[in-house]
Amino acid sequence: MYKVGITGGIGSGKTTVCKVFEVLGIPVFYADTVAKQIMVTDQLLVDGVRSAFGVESYASDGKLNNKHLAGIVFNNEAELAKLNALVHPAVFRAFGEWEKQVDPTVPYTLKEAALLFESGSYKMCDTSILVTAPLNLKLARVMHRDQVSAEQVNARMDKQMTDEAKAKMANHFITNDEQHSIIEQVLVLHQQFLFAAGNIQL
Ligand code: ATP
Repeated sequence: MYKVGITGGIGSGKTTVCKVFEVLGIPVFYADTVAKQIMVTDQLLVDGVRSAFGVESYASDGKLNNKHLAGIVFNNEAELAKLNALVHPAVFRAFGEWEKQVDPTVPYTLKEAALLFESGSYKMCDTSILVTAPLNLKLARVMHRDQVSAEQVNARMDKQMTDEAKAKMANHFITNDEQHSIIEQVLVLHQQFLFAAGNIQL
């Protein structure tokens, strides 16, 4: 099935854009949400995390010890890469399972991932969308949504690949600022994906 990857910086509005595609009947796989779930449900991943970061990575009731893991990977590129090397393949596995459950008559699916390009998962998609928004707007949105300070949002933003770098890898763009309608942009892309997906099936 034709697969569209969608990404964007924190607060760009990728989830909001995905909700519009869902209204059009397009199933969306939310990789970041799934990644959090499988940290406790995917036994292969759980075992990998335990052996790489210690048995204390999980509490006795099986809950993830976020504080322990964050303490190890925060500001440590090598440890973060080690964790990602365990999580990303597990998310790919979960996506494969999810795809099997999708209604086979849908024209295409969407995969939303903050790290679409960084994780390499864009290579498994037929095309990709980058959602962009001005920095100040992204900052205000996340501060309001998560009730956090500008410093906290900036610290999260500083860890992400820049929009300029992502733009070089993306095939399509959605501008989610206060001047452009995301609904109109989604409708245009939806037509293009229907056409592309139809051509692929021929
Ligand atoms: P993250 O990477 O943090 O998950 P995201 O890119 O998925 O963020 P959203 O959660 O979709 O971003 O949007 C961030 C916040 O901004 C949300 O509270 C959302 O409701 C709001 N928002 C996004 N786009 C718009 C818009 N066009 N108009 C009004 N509010 C918006």
